Amino acid sequence: MSKDYVIGIDLGGTKIYTAVVDLEGNIISEKTVATNVVEGEEAVLGRIMGTVDTVLKDVNIEDVKAIGIGSPGPLDVKNGIIINSANFPSFKNFSIVKPIKEKYNLPTFLDNDANVATLGEFMFGAGKGTENMVFVTASTGIGGGAVLNGRLYRGNTANALEIGHMTVMVNGPRCGCGNAGCAEALGSGTAIMKRAREAVNSNANTSLKNYSEVTSKEVFEEAAKGDRISKEIINTSLSYLGIAVANIVNIFDPEKVVVGGGVTNGGKIVFDKIQEEVDNRCLKAISENCVIEKAVLGGKAGVLGAAALAIMEIK
Ligand SMILES: [Zn+2]
Repeated sequence: MSKDYVIGIDLGGTKIYTAVVDLEGNIISEKTVATNVVEGEEAVLGRIMGTVDTVLKDVNIEDVKAIGIGSPGPLDVKNGIIINSANFPSFKNFSIVKPIKEKYNLPTFLDNDANVATLGEFMFGAGKGTENMVFVTASTGIGGGAVLNGRLYRGNTANALEIGHMTVMVNGPRCGCGNAGCAEALGSGTAIMKRAREAVNSNANTSLKNYSEVTSKEVFEEAAKGDRISKEIINTSLSYLGIAVANIVNIFDPEKVVVGGGVTNGGKIVFDKIQEEVDNRCLKAISENCVIEKAVLGGKAGVLGAAALAIMEIK
């Protein structure tokens, strides 16, 4: 009996991860290569096609129904174009969908990495079985996506759910986007690291001074060991992340908020703090029916999400 498959392509700044995936989210065949962005659009396109050719060797191409691509934005999703991206300095209006669609003669779709990760968790991960789910990723930045009534919500310009740029503090620190007091400037891994470095360079008494370089990982570790300054930094930063999540919960009334990204490696304390802010700030009717859960796809979120995008688009 033949089986239906799709191909997911996770195009990142450092690597291209491509896989043949079945409709249940099982990876049948996979290939990872370096992106080598400096080589330019044509070379990267050639490398992407190389990975597709490789993974196709393990299946019948007649069984493959569509291709999904996840990429950092900004994108022109409708026309399948990577407009430009901090991750791809050598790309300018890179038309990525058309050549792939033509070569393999398959419906091919593009969406940004946050949206595909959202779809991945929704279809195959922690959000499976829900109708309304918000995905939040907190690492160097804060981003996210939403599935509403079973469909990905893109918004007017396909930039919806820029959770990181929600203002959570009046006259707060300047954010990379130009605004002041964004959630990303206060509750991301980068924000934790910044506060920690300020503490190291101050006359505060903290065990963070024992490290030659401090990232959010060391701050979580020292907080767990009882360092007062580290605890304060974690508490403050997670509280802003929690405020952002609480605002999202009040707006969308989701069944589930799935949280992923490097900051969640901090463990239980991350989820406890988010839950605390949600409990304190949301309408009871909403928060009592909303579950905050850890993302489960990890490093496969991009490739499985791209596969989920392909499945969603052809359904
Ligand atoms: Zn911002």
